[in-house]
Amino acid sequence: MPISIKTVCSASTLALIAALSGCSGESPDSAARATATAAAPKATASSGDEWLSYGRDYSEQRYSPLKQINADNVEQLNLAWFGDLAERGGSYEATPLMANGRLFVSTPWSKVYAFDARSGQQLWKYDPKVPGEWAVKLCCGIVNRGVAMFEDTIIWATLDGRLVSVKADTGALVWEKQITDREGYHSITGAPRIADGRIFIGEAGSEYHQRGYMAAYDARNGNELWRWWAVPGNPALGFEQPELEMAAATWNGEWWKTGGGGTPWDGVTYDPVTKLVYIGTGNGAPWPADIRSPGGGDNLFTSSIVALDAATGAYRWHYQAVPRDSWDFDNTQQLVTADLLIDGTQRHVVMQAPKNGVFYVLDAATGKPLSADLFVPTANWLTGFDENFRPLINPDANYGQFGDKGFYVVPSYAGAHGWNPMAFNPDTGLMYIPTSYGSFPFVAEAGAKMGNQLLSINTSKRPEGPPPVLQGEGSYLLAWDPVQRKPLWEQRSSSSRTGVLTTAGNLVFQAAGNIFRAFRADTGEEVWSTNTQSGAVGGAISYALDGQQYIATVSGQANGGGGYWAPNYARLLVYKLGGSATLPEPVSYSPPVLNPPANFGDAALLAQGEARYLEHCSSCHGTSVGRVSSLFPDLRYAAALNAEAPFKAIVIDGALQNNGMVSFAQYLTPQDAEAIRAYVVSLANAARNPTPPPAPAAQVH
Ligand code: CA
Repeated sequence: MPISIKTVCSASTLALIAALSGCSGESPDSAARATATAAAPKATASSGDEWLSYGRDYSEQRYSPLKQINADNVEQLNLAWFGDLAERGGSYEATPLMANGRLFVSTPWSKVYAFDARSGQQLWKYDPKVPGEWAVKLCCGIVNRGVAMFEDTIIWATLDGRLVSVKADTGALVWEKQITDREGYHSITGAPRIADGRIFIGEAGSEYHQRGYMAAYDARNGNELWRWWAVPGNPALGFEQPELEMAAATWNGEWWKTGGGGTPWDGVTYDPVTKLVYIGTGNGAPWPADIRSPGGGDNLFTSSIVALDAATGAYRWHYQAVPRDSWDFDNTQQLVTADLLIDGTQRHVVMQAPKNGVFYVLDAATGKPLSADLFVPTANWLTGFDENFRPLINPDANYGQFGDKGFYVVPSYAGAHGWNPMAFNPDTGLMYIPTSYGSFPFVAEAGAKMGNQLLSINTSKRPEGPPPVLQGEGSYLLAWDPVQRKPLWEQRSSSSRTGVLTTAGNLVFQAAGNIFRAFRADTGEEVWSTNTQSGAVGGAISYALDGQQYIATVSGQANGGGGYWAPNYARLLVYKLGGSATLPEPVSYSPPVLNPPANFGDAALLAQGEARYLEHCSSCHGTSVGRVSSLFPDLRYAAALNAEAPFKAIVIDGALQNNGMVSFAQYLTPQDAEAIRAYVVSLANAARNPTPPPAPAAQVH
């Protein structure tokens, strides 16, 4: 029998729902917000007029209580204005913030723009000048997912691990602080969250010999207030936190030499009800558990949801979703709080739909799992759960024990749900999840790298036998009922790799490719669409000014092909009912023609070139398969391929340093450079045809 659904007061939206449902509780507005707007317009988080944090408010629900735009009139929604974003497309992952009549948008290379939210006039732009060579330290793109606000400042984290604070009105620098070890391979791509003057942010890069940690910093100066390590270090050196002794008992071998992983690179939720910060930790690294921690062990606290005391960083509880992860199952995805009526009892819960395909509902105060259900049709890394919601791992999935036999895992490592934000609508009681259903091939090989990432899987090998045939494989928007624990509808015209907004107007907004759509929140029926000329992969927002509701989204993913040479259509797009703006007609362009010299070099030189290219070049210039960059030139078209000397002048001597291409003399020998030239020439000849270079693949992490 279905349980009756009644969604009750959401912790962070109490004030806005109070009038409707009789709930009461503390204001959702942060202390920071209270100070921030003392002299500002009357809008508050609870009214929904502003969008003050990455997920709108602390709940991370991405639900707007505005309903001027609704399912019955949304066909009148049209462009009000747009603002151009200059950075070359391919990696616009940001959710905008709206406060005090200004919109704030972060772009690739951690630059931030401010626009007038009425007129679209650009107010300022801040460039933190991230060094171009930082790109060689990144696994997953030159991206930034958003900014945070504190008092009259805008704060964000840069790719090279700095926190930057600028004045919200002028963009003038207030302070800047390096918060990661600059010698290491840390990067920061996530949006900070701020509560009670504390900035909460983690870092990325599990596969680069990282020991993951979460930290809080003072919003007034960036000083570190506390740090919580997700993985124990060398036990001989002692433990920074008491629970790391317990965690160390779940590891074997000398995991600390490669860090162990567990980087909490995305989901962070501050909960004003429990005063806890919930984080999701990344996968264990290198990937196969039998190589990372030979002889067993769950490898705490990788692939876990963890609750920390917001004031002190002290450990409160954890739920490890994937003990002994071998499948790159980060648990870093968005953590949403809500109050749900479950079996007749009102429960304050944390919900997550991570890569591994299981939808979790946990008690927010204790971490006790209340339910764990597959939100994709099947998964083969587990066979079920024990009575404590510990997953029963499928023995066949432990490919680290099977050499070349390998294993096709379901869902894919790219994730049943990745970083692209989902949204929860308290009116329908549904979570709208960008969902992917597929498989991924794993073949373990100790020490094998992809680029400079130590994965210990051989990415060029495939498991024995065919990949699984999956009914319903693909990418879609899923409406999931967390109380009845079942899907309500799915929309196959939508996508797993774009973020979601839901509103009180019975609407769900999501882009797929260059089309931005709205669906009825209750049934999934498509009710509006528009062409954005480029793809929007982050989350849209809604705000109101002067009694007018707006929908805003950042578009910039190049989906039309053409890569580096394609025109840049990265923009902040803002829509309202009856809007009358139009986008300029797309510009025609002619991609260059491949004209490489003849192939040269023997198999050994080509193999050396491929290895060096993947290590040092591919994160910017792309690979021949998969991730092809549109931010940097495709080297197959480079004139310098024609001779050894000009190629070496660029790669070793830094001839194009002023264009951002630094010398790689500290990493590569002149002979390496020649091997790379031979490899790229071979790729160019293989691809020689009149079509433009391929479009960038969707970014996954
Ligand atoms: Ca990962």
